[in-house]
Amino acid sequence: MIFPAATCDIKDLPERRESRPHKTVTLHGYLGSLRNAGKSLTFVELSNTDLTHSVQLVAHSKDHDDPNSVLAQLRSLDSNAPVAITGTVKSRVAKPNEARDSPSGIIPVSDLEISIAEIVPLNEFPKDIIIAEGTNIPPHQRHLQIRQDKNLRDALLLRSRAYSIIRKEMVQTMRFTEIETPLLFKSTPEGAREFLVPTRTAGEAYALPQSPQQYKQILMASGVSKYVQFAKCFRDEDLRADRQPEFTQLDLEMAFSTGEDVMKVVEALVKKLWRNLLDLDTTSEAFPRMSYQHAMSMYGSDKPDLRLGSEIKRIQYMLPVDLVRMISDLEEPIVEVMKVPIAEDPKETRRFVTGFMDSAEAKQFNKNPDGQPGIFVYDSRKPLGGLQAFGFEAAEQVEEALELEEGDLVVLQARKDAPFAGGSTMMGNLRLALHKSAVSQGFKPRPSGFKFLWVNDFPLFKPSDLDVSEPGQGGTAGLSSTHHPFTAPKTPADVDLLLTNPLECVADHYDLVVNGVELGGGSRRIHQHAMQELVLRDVLGMSNERLEDFRHLIEVLRAGCPPHAGMALGFDRLMAVMLGKDSVRDVIAFPKSGKGEDVMVKSPSKMTKQQLETYHLRLREEHKGVDEKGT
Ligand code: ASP
Repeated sequence: MIFPAATCDIKDLPERRESRPHKTVTLHGYLGSLRNAGKSLTFVELSNTDLTHSVQLVAHSKDHDDPNSVLAQLRSLDSNAPVAITGTVKSRVAKPNEARDSPSGIIPVSDLEISIAEIVPLNEFPKDIIIAEGTNIPPHQRHLQIRQDKNLRDALLLRSRAYSIIRKEMVQTMRFTEIETPLLFKSTPEGAREFLVPTRTAGEAYALPQSPQQYKQILMASGVSKYVQFAKCFRDEDLRADRQPEFTQLDLEMAFSTGEDVMKVVEALVKKLWRNLLDLDTTSEAFPRMSYQHAMSMYGSDKPDLRLGSEIKRIQYMLPVDLVRMISDLEEPIVEVMKVPIAEDPKETRRFVTGFMDSAEAKQFNKNPDGQPGIFVYDSRKPLGGLQAFGFEAAEQVEEALELEEGDLVVLQARKDAPFAGGSTMMGNLRLALHKSAVSQGFKPRPSGFKFLWVNDFPLFKPSDLDVSEPGQGGTAGLSSTHHPFTAPKTPADVDLLLTNPLECVADHYDLVVNGVELGGGSRRIHQHAMQELVLRDVLGMSNERLEDFRHLIEVLRAGCPPHAGMALGFDRLMAVMLGKDSVRDVIAFPKSGKGEDVMVKSPSKMTKQQLETYHLRLREEHKGVDEKGT
């Protein structure tokens, strides 16, 4: 199709009044709804090609019956159809001096209109496709969702600007080298379940990378001193908690560097993004730091939302035995307490408690095998403020320790007296659930602002049966790495613990957290081959065969690999947090559904018989005929 080139974009139309009037322009864009004003006059908005700006078009004809007139042509077109129009720019403002009198002297686009001289329709927009505002467009019409939803388009725009700021900052200013690493990798489980890509050689498969971890470490031994990549990563995990099977990481690694060096770079970058994209100065001070142990005991989470308050305190030593028995069957449990301010009127707080208890979310807390939570409302009109079950002494101590005020919710929860393992405790989850419910029930505003935090000093290993959904790292020692098996122990004392008490070993591992969301994590790596081999074989208990999967990395470390450290930021999550979105789907152009499907293109799709044969695959008997296309 031949059509005239645009001379400018609608957003570039406004100019100083003196340099106009009656300039001829050609514009591309989408038509709005036609408004006929009598027989010989029609108005319509034209939106520019990226739907950010619009201008009014006007067509008139003395001979409105002439089918070749611009008026008749315009009237024959559909709303939302793409067009190229040529016309004269005019001011719609009655008083011609208005713009000149304004401080800028520029006529805003809303005060302009284009009198159409020629119109070239570029395609139709059939009536059966509806994108009017307020229409609920299903996910399989993602193109229409994006076209209708300005927020979604703005998110994609912000994402694109973020790419460019990061590239400029890291590649140009900080001298990182952007390097692509392969997507067809091999199976070397680092923690998450992988996607396999079968090949035409019988029994052989690639694996898609969970992250470019091993390649970036290989680059460190290759004389690349600072690596960065917007890396596509793939994890075949349960899709709970708003995860995507494929996602983007901002991945970096630095040679001759420590974790401190990496944290400094990432912190500067994050501050720059907040300043340039959100116009927010996060803080000129360094982000605070908190150890894993501290975060878990104060907030019951390794990614605490510091905006919520409600710090957790241990109080079992204050409590009467009867009360401890009432809330838990455990032998000498740890009992934790926190306050959640809900309302000043205890009656209102009780109303909140009823609402929370009726919610589906409350069930998991009541089913806790360590005991149900004890929930109290502080009410000065009652004996001991409603904390009679605590006994006089404990009630007074709790009141003082928590600085209780009228209407505060007081929550008790027991747990086993055992070291922390995993990412959260029941009390930590309850803390989040109560705050969320207070927002959804209208007792509290949605928390705002950004509170950054570095969480560090994680345990290097965790018992591997902790999370059965994770396949672990393939060892037999009953341990898996908290971060990944390439993370270095923090101090020489931790190195000594590797073989004697690995669960006590602290990792040189750091996570960046904002508002209860983990933006990313990284670590200083093991850079000596002997220690890497020791961790894989002797600490994790990998067989010789399993170890061979990592031989390439061990060889690379052996070749004089310098000390190095790195990190990856979840780029989708970073964008979602910046935009205050609950779901990463709102910042990804083509996200997968909760079932891991792209419902627009309908993937994944059934394999044909021929494909199965090509890849030497056979379906189990029970799936035959159901799961394959009969082609
Ligand atoms: N590869 C790690 C991850 O994906 C990040 C890192 O340690 O650099 O979590």
